[in-house]
Amino acid sequence: MGELNAAVSLVCRECGKDHGHVFAYTCVECLGALEASIDLGSLEVSRSNIEQRNRDMRRYREFLPILRDENIVSIGTGYTPLIRVDSLARAIGVRRLYVKNDTVNPTFSFKDRPSSVAVSKAKEFGLGVVGCASTGNLAGATAAHAAAAGLRSVVMMPSFVEDAKVVQASVYGATVVLIDGTYDDVNRLAALVADRFNIGVVNVNLRPYYVEGSKTMGLEIVEQLGWRTPDRIVVPSASGALLSAIYKGIREAEEAGLLDDADVAMTCAQPEGCSPITTAYRKGLDRVIPVHSPQTIVRSLAIGDPGDGLQALRVIRSSGGTAGAVSDVEALEAVNLLAKETGVFAEPGGAISVAVLKRLVEEGEVGRDEEVVCCVTGAGFKTLDVIPKGEGHIRVLPSFAALSRELSRVLS
Ligand SMILES: *Cc1c(COP(=O)(O)O)cnc(C)c1O
Ligand SMILES: [Zn+2]
Repeated sequence: MGELNAAVSLVCRECGKDHGHVFAYTCVECLGALEASIDLGSLEVSRSNIEQRNRDMRRYREFLPILRDENIVSIGTGYTPLIRVDSLARAIGVRRLYVKNDTVNPTFSFKDRPSSVAVSKAKEFGLGVVGCASTGNLAGATAAHAAAAGLRSVVMMPSFVEDAKVVQASVYGATVVLIDGTYDDVNRLAALVADRFNIGVVNVNLRPYYVEGSKTMGLEIVEQLGWRTPDRIVVPSASGALLSAIYKGIREAEEAGLLDDADVAMTCAQPEGCSPITTAYRKGLDRVIPVHSPQTIVRSLAIGDPGDGLQALRVIRSSGGTAGAVSDVEALEAVNLLAKETGVFAEPGGAISVAVLKRLVEEGEVGRDEEVVCCVTGAGFKTLDVIPKGEGHIRVLPSFAALSRELSRVLS
């Protein structure tokens, strides 16, 4: 494909000013957020064309804001399974249910999608160091893609993140910085050091490119359903970027002629201890009020001041979606329900889509006749610290008699 996407530029979400293809994230006129824009009208892309390609996110090459193919940093992210889960559908009470299983990405969360694009752009802009402000999963994803690209990385996280996430990022060779504060403290500091040390911080100064990577999740869902949308997509949300990007991807698929109808109710799932987007939606506000001290074991979603919160709110409303929040206990119950009904082991932040769907069906806000996709965004193995061991542990002496005694009890 060689050089492509000559028409990538950043446009201000608020005033519409076109900034061209630049390494920037806020509008010089109004300080609004910049968003990548790709001229889809000029794209030569068809369903059959895409269907013949590699099963990773390069499949949707034309929708990615990367100018040159040689800058693409890929470790096999994307094209994750969309699994029809009939017994979970019955347990929850909806007509049809799918799980979009993003736990199987190379670093075990959907964060590989935006990281892949952001690190590719860091390469394209000639940066030597990348970094991130992370609630846990982004650290591993950024570190892995930096390793593959031969770039140095500095990943910053609140010190409360799960041990596995710290270990994972450091194994990839990142400099791991744990900050004794909230995610919002980490984010603010990351923005300051980005300028001072010329670091491409994937979700701060590379953010307009970063978020584009997650469009691939929306593109995959519609392709995997046979180029159509489900009634509803439920998305675990922290900054609100993933929810917004899935919808953008689906809208662009329609614009590019791949999809006849982009109708889908985008539904936000958050933990009660940190649910600023859900609260704003429920109260009918037109801005998102930050949560100062998030209180939840769902650490990957503990962002009090969501960077794309306003955008997510707009998408929820314009798509006819909704937003829900559940307790930590419900999130943990959903981890178990999902694992037992489908064989997918998610972290609480990944399974919260299932918990929120269950609650919204019980409350009658989601209809029992719907076809729903729950995005499951991160793997349970990284959050063993917060997942109760459960029952079913039997310890016996190494003798046939002892084992038989226990098994006849259990299996009777
Ligand atoms: C980061 C994260 C999210 C939320 O992503 P945003 O784009 O910040 O809304 C959801 N699930 C998991 C497991 C995450 O790590
Ligand atoms: Zn502007």
